[in-house]
Amino acid sequence: MKKYLIVFSAVITVLVSAANFIAPVAGTPVVTSSFGEFRGTGNRGPHFHMGIDLSTNMRSGVPILAVADGWLVRVEIDDDDIYGNVIVLEHENGLRTLYAHLSKFSSKLDLIINSVTSEFGKKRIVVNFPSKTFFFKTGEPIGYSGQTGEAAQPHCHFEIRSADESVCYDPASFISFPKPKDATFSVKSLIIDSERYTYTEGRVYQFKDAYPKISVNVATIINKNVIGLKSLKMYFNEILVYDINLGEIPLDEFSNVWSVYTTDSVSDGYSYNAWYKLYPDRGTSVVKTNKFAELGRLPSRVNVRIVCTDVWNEEFVMRFVLERR
Ligand SMILES: [Zn+2]
Repeated sequence: MKKYLIVFSAVITVLVSAANFIAPVAGTPVVTSSFGEFRGTGNRGPHFHMGIDLSTNMRSGVPILAVADGWLVRVEIDDDDIYGNVIVLEHENGLRTLYAHLSKFSSKLDLIINSVTSEFGKKRIVVNFPSKTFFFKTGEPIGYSGQTGEAAQPHCHFEIRSADESVCYDPASFISFPKPKDATFSVKSLIIDSERYTYTEGRVYQFKDAYPKISVNVATIINKNVIGLKSLKMYFNEILVYDINLGEIPLDEFSNVWSVYTTDSVSDGYSYNAWYKLYPDRGTSVVKTNKFAELGRLPSRVNVRIVCTDVWNEEFVMRFVLERR
């Protein structure tokens, strides 16, 4: 198992060093949703947010830029799907990038888009392009911002995928987005064995059974906008027992959200409230460490430390004590 992890992290390092991506929105793009957030609605049911959302100041028609030189792989036109109008590019480093909710495509695609829409009308249209047909250079507009598909307001939804589109990676691992000065870490509350509490550092909370079932309602808040975290590591008496890491998510785990979030979570496009589940429930590759099976029955008093890491790799630490009732 250890060997596998080392090989895997080496692959990621190669990918990161090979990527030289710019942001898909010009200027200083503001992150409005993070990779791996819970999504409760849409035609495909509850799912992970497989990309990052960048503000276009609620405007349609803002140029969406190719993040690196790349060839067009695919255009999707479908207002009934969560993604709306989509462009996918492939880049020399082997990665693909996806841009969703577009209002319009680059004018160099007009001829082909007009011919397929006049033939197929309002049906879902997916056009796969032969390799190396349409080239976009770094910073060239591939299309324009909009709110096609499931988007409460116009913005840029941006994804980075593996060459075979089996895995999505956190774009914030490839492109550094500035952290707004008014961003604050928020711990609203926690639930331990179905009892809801407000969080106070150092407080003693009760648990029952062999081990506690803890979920936490934590986020980054920027001007009332709630943004999900990158990772949560939980330690019992300074031993790492559980590690959720949302750095990458396989596409076949798109709907596996209940492995990370509890059903108390809400995301309806207007409000966001995520409860991270810090105990094993169902299998997922997003949980990197899970020592619950080895723990046995916990001692009657446990010091708990939860290290929460945000989109910008800054940490916030929660500390409290558990006592068996
Ligand atoms: Zn999005």
